[in-house]
Amino acid sequence: MSKENLSKEAGSKEAGSKETGSMAPITGRQLLAETLGGAAAAWQIDDRGLCLAGESAVDWLNHQAQPATPAYIYNGAAISAQVQAVRAVLPGTIHLHYAIKANPFPPVISHLATQVDGFDCASLAEMQRVAELAPARLAQTSIAGPAKSADEHRFAISHGVLINIESAGELQRVADVAQSLGKRARVALRVNPPFELKGAGMKMGGGARPFGIDSEAIPALIERIRTDATLRDHLALEGFHLFAGSQNRQAEAIAATLRQSLILVQDWTRQTGFMPRHLNLGGGFGVVYQPQDAPLDLAALKPVLAEIGADAQQAWTGVRVNLELGRYLVAAAGIYVTRIVDRKTSRGKIYLMCDGGMHHHLALSGNLGQVLRRNWPIVAIAQMDEPHSETVDLAGPLCTPLDVLGQNQALPILQPGDVVGVLQSGAYGASASPQGFLSRPAPGEYFVPG
Ligand SMILES: *Cc1c(COP(=O)(O)O)cnc(C)c1O
Repeated sequence: MSKENLSKEAGSKEAGSKETGSMAPITGRQLLAETLGGAAAAWQIDDRGLCLAGESAVDWLNHQAQPATPAYIYNGAAISAQVQAVRAVLPGTIHLHYAIKANPFPPVISHLATQVDGFDCASLAEMQRVAELAPARLAQTSIAGPAKSADEHRFAISHGVLINIESAGELQRVADVAQSLGKRARVALRVNPPFELKGAGMKMGGGARPFGIDSEAIPALIERIRTDATLRDHLALEGFHLFAGSQNRQAEAIAATLRQSLILVQDWTRQTGFMPRHLNLGGGFGVVYQPQDAPLDLAALKPVLAEIGADAQQAWTGVRVNLELGRYLVAAAGIYVTRIVDRKTSRGKIYLMCDGGMHHHLALSGNLGQVLRRNWPIVAIAQMDEPHSETVDLAGPLCTPLDVLGQNQALPILQPGDVVGVLQSGAYGASASPQGFLSRPAPGEYFVPG
């Protein structure tokens, strides 16, 4: 039986019946292994269920100062496992950066400070966190964003942060701010490429976009920076930034984008004679949200990355090439835990009403850029070996039908007081959700070393 059928089977009517062989409903332990892959080993499970620091996760949560639920738990060992998996396929010539917007929780940034080669920020506050938590990394930090404020420009220029320039107008504004500070701004041109990342869940390149500078305008802009006195004196053009899309699990598509990006930059440098010192090739590596989905084949990227690194060095000796990954480094390290407050049946459908919802986890509710909502991997954290033999809907506390946590979701038979955990919630969770909506409390956020 295919995995797809297996997971559908998990939602069939045989509630409580102990099935064997390929017909057996999936368990939480299996779901965690199948979705998290190599990072699964960072999560401890025993007969008490999911464990944290040697205790059952439920007990551990009950001892914390913040509310036990709803909360996010981030696991440092799972982050390290993902970093190591990526490092294993990166040649020495390609550096690994972390895109902070995926998860800006300070202990996560501190944990990554010693493991990645730099950071990519998307706001003033993110740069301030790097300055506070990893000041040695500021020289390997960049900021991107299509409508940066003067405060962001000032902070970046004062702290030597590389600014990814998103338009000709921004180029002028940055030069003006640098002039007023009596400094030179480090800049890279963010490119809106003529292609998009195929298979990406969220597209950021190709066609008309608010992000970056259209690729066809780049050579003229390089020339302007050379010839315009204000630009020349106050900008240090270091290179280029390309980022074509997010949540891509297709190694072939990522490889093609990386190759196309390199060719694009080689064309300009041949045309203009400009020698980049810096080339940011973006992020977008995708993770598995459903056990039936194929994981990104990192090993297949290894030869491509080696080739990209070598080609870049050959074209522009000493160039620093970066990948900036967000989701891939932190998704598997996060579990969003929420407690069942009520169990009720509405016209034949079982609802588990939870204390957490879309105001903490917008992506779980299907409202963060998805066209069709898909279920997430959800486990019962104290019943990791019980079969997911019942099909239920999970909803949150908000007075809106948008507050969906699961639809026809297979779980063990659960009651009020039980705690479910949403796996793969370490990226674009708490900070990517409308926490002000309905004026409910923020979730707890916990970091455990693993
Ligand atoms: C969000 C973002 C990233 C990270 O994307 P992931 O899909 O999380 O890897 C990288 N670079 C830029 C410019 C971004 O905006």
